Amino acid sequence: MSATLAAERRVAVEAVLQACRVCQKVFNHLVAGETIIKDDRSPVTVADYSAQAVVNTYLAEHFPQDLVVGEESARDLQGEVGRALREKVLSLSNAVLRVPLTESKLLTAIDRGSYGGGPRGRHWTLDPIDGTKGFLRGDQFAVCLALIEDGEVRLGVMGCPNLPAAHLGQAAQATASPPGERGCLFIAEKGHGAFTRSLVSDVETRIHVSDTRDCRDARFCESVEAAHSSHSDASRVGQDLGITQDSIRMDSQCKYGCIARGDADIYLRLPASATYVEKIWDHASGALLVEEAGGIVTDVDGKHLDFSRGRFLDANRGVVAANARIHSEVLRAVQKVLQNPERA
Ligand code: AMP
Ligand code: MG
Repeated sequence: MSATLAAERRVAVEAVLQACRVCQKVFNHLVAGETIIKDDRSPVTVADYSAQAVVNTYLAEHFPQDLVVGEESARDLQGEVGRALREKVLSLSNAVLRVPLTESKLLTAIDRGSYGGGPRGRHWTLDPIDGTKGFLRGDQFAVCLALIEDGEVRLGVMGCPNLPAAHLGQAAQATASPPGERGCLFIAEKGHGAFTRSLVSDVETRIHVSDTRDCRDARFCESVEAAHSSHSDASRVGQDLGITQDSIRMDSQCKYGCIARGDADIYLRLPASATYVEKIWDHASGALLVEEAGGIVTDVDGKHLDFSRGRFLDANRGVVAANARIHSEVLRAVQKVLQNPERA
């Protein structure tokens, strides 16, 4: 195992920053420009593929041996059917890459994300746009990249182009998108702490989870989508803990960033379906960020998230992330609610 990951950190930061630029460009041209019709998901598709192509190209250039578990595959960009999409993705990717890709290299770059993961060796995991619904609304989304060695997350970099740079304080009235400067990058390296910086300056600030000790003073952060995390169970957990503050609802792993810098105290992802299995790219960078900021991240059974099992977190159910002072009490309330959903 490498002692420090200075080169990996530098390359991951640059790759995520460039991918964020691609996403912002797509948003400004296609979504904010209102050139899309309602329910048209094509901008997010274009941005998703371009962000994966850009990040994977950086990784291939600097760490050619490394494998990548990425969310996207190039299948829909192949052949005549994929031509229009392929051309858009190529032009967006090449706008930020030093050496332009050819069409065939573009497809190869995207498909470098097809690795299956697992317990041995080293690989990256990438969610090129986490929180696609947030992206389309102009709310929160994140470019999430993590390095996993022998099943343990060692480095996490998360770009959050729409997340306010300042803390989401009380004045934000629990909204995920108050006015002010937007755009943050979060960086965590195992054993070396958690940091944030803006997308335009490389000055990093160390971040810590909140120091809330009394759960009654705590604030939740949760998914906008009730289909991704049960709002009703979270509200029962809140009642059990005596929480009175409104929760902050936001899309994507930005929620982990908010816990890591102390905007909120508890992130719950309570299974809304008995069959859904979480993917590693949806949690790897965020979970390390919270841990390195002094928090604890487990599943609803109190187990450590196990990133060694391949593309899925199939040894875990849901997520409970909180500062270390209150995590055990939150977990107890979660288990009480999940065991007695009607009576809790
Ligand atoms: P969030 O923005 O936190 O609501 O989560 C977005 C992520 O939820 C996406 O990247 C999906 O991979 C994931 N997702 C999709 N369906 C589900 C589900 N039924 N339960 C939990 N997560 C889901
Ligand atoms: Mg995702």
